[in-house]
Amino acid sequence: MSAIDYQRVQCPYCGEAIALQVDDSAGEQDYVEDCSVCCRPIEVRLCWDGDCWRLEVRRDDE
Ligand SMILES: [Zn+2]
Repeated sequence: MSAIDYQRVQCPYCGEAIALQVDDSAGEQDYVEDCSVCCRPIEVRLCWDGDCWRLEVRRDDE
């Protein structure tokens, strides 16, 4: 299984669909990634829900 994958998410600021590079070999993580469309900082959370990896994105200012 490849550890690095691209996940499509919707930017919480501009609503555009963007591809985030996700490395699940590092385990659960929180980081900030700039949107490739509007360049605003998206808070990305990768968590294991017992069955599969879940990727959540939210605005940094909430
Ligand atoms: Zn955006």
